[in-house]
Amino acid sequence: MVRFSAGKLVPFWEDVMSFIQIPDHAWKLGVDWKVVWLLAGVHAVGVVGAWYASVFAPTYTILLAIAVFFLCHLAIRTGAHSLYTHRAYSASFLWHALTIVFFAATMQGPLLTGVMLHVRHHQYPDTEKDPYSPMHGWLWAHMLWVCFKNPQLSARDAPWLLRGKTPAEKRIIALVKWQSERAIPAGFALGVLVPGLVASLWGDFWGGIMIAGFLRLVCQYHCTWQINSLSHIVGPRPFGGKNSSRDSPWWLFGIPSLLSVGEASGHNRHHRYSRDFRIGVGYTSVDPGKWLLYAAWGFSQILRRLGAPPLVWGLYRFDDDGSPSVLQ
Ligand SMILES: [Zn+2]
Ligand SMILES: [Zn+2]
Repeated sequence: MVRFSAGKLVPFWEDVMSFIQIPDHAWKLGVDWKVVWLLAGVHAVGVVGAWYASVFAPTYTILLAIAVFFLCHLAIRTGAHSLYTHRAYSASFLWHALTIVFFAATMQGPLLTGVMLHVRHHQYPDTEKDPYSPMHGWLWAHMLWVCFKNPQLSARDAPWLLRGKTPAEKRIIALVKWQSERAIPAGFALGVLVPGLVASLWGDFWGGIMIAGFLRLVCQYHCTWQINSLSHIVGPRPFGGKNSSRDSPWWLFGIPSLLSVGEASGHNRHHRYSRDFRIGVGYTSVDPGKWLLYAAWGFSQILRRLGAPPLVWGLYRFDDDGSPSVLQ
């Protein structure tokens, strides 16, 4: 297989090498072997999980895996991304706790690190400072970057994360630190062991571990990583901007958007208006994260009307003028 580039014949192996690009600054930081082995192990057991699912096809366990997948992805979309990184809305302690617990079950590393890296992605898109710049190829933006050590990060990257005065804000900070200091054990306990225990209710403990745990983690990883790869390489750019971000093209029929609960639906717009909790804004945009937040907003407003204390029961905390207050 060959292709022509600038009138020159390019052999297959050169094509492969251009596909696998690792920037110099990553080599300087070094390979993160702990992450490499962890990902290799999760993928290997995930393949066994796919075999188990295809041979035994345990309906309840597969439904459990789908439910855990979407709940965890909603925690990434509405929690780690819109709430913690972009402060697009304000939420009660209960909402923070739920999103952190389900985020922990995604085993995607410390929340603090993820937020700081994503802030840099927005600040320096497509440059050397962008941790997952698509300028180094699809595979780098998708998952190779995960296999290398992170650049030096500091609290200044996301100062709002560890800043709080009220008791509720201090409890939220404690939760963020709790997950960030033990991301891997918490991920195994909540993302693998708990689904196994739930599936043991119908006698399928190992199915729960392999399908709702490991296989679901593999799917979750790639559906998260596609935002940095696919959403920066394929699709229209109706909001323009000076970066490579793209909305999901119509010919993918909303599939990447559904599998990322809305992240892919309007990634080009998201780079332009990152403080908006809506990522896909069109009537036909598939953005389940936005739908959940609209539903939660309606729910908390109903509770407010009924006189329930919004900080405890509601999902939002509103200032006296009715606008959502921002935690910072
Ligand atoms: Zn992006
Ligand atoms: Zn973002």
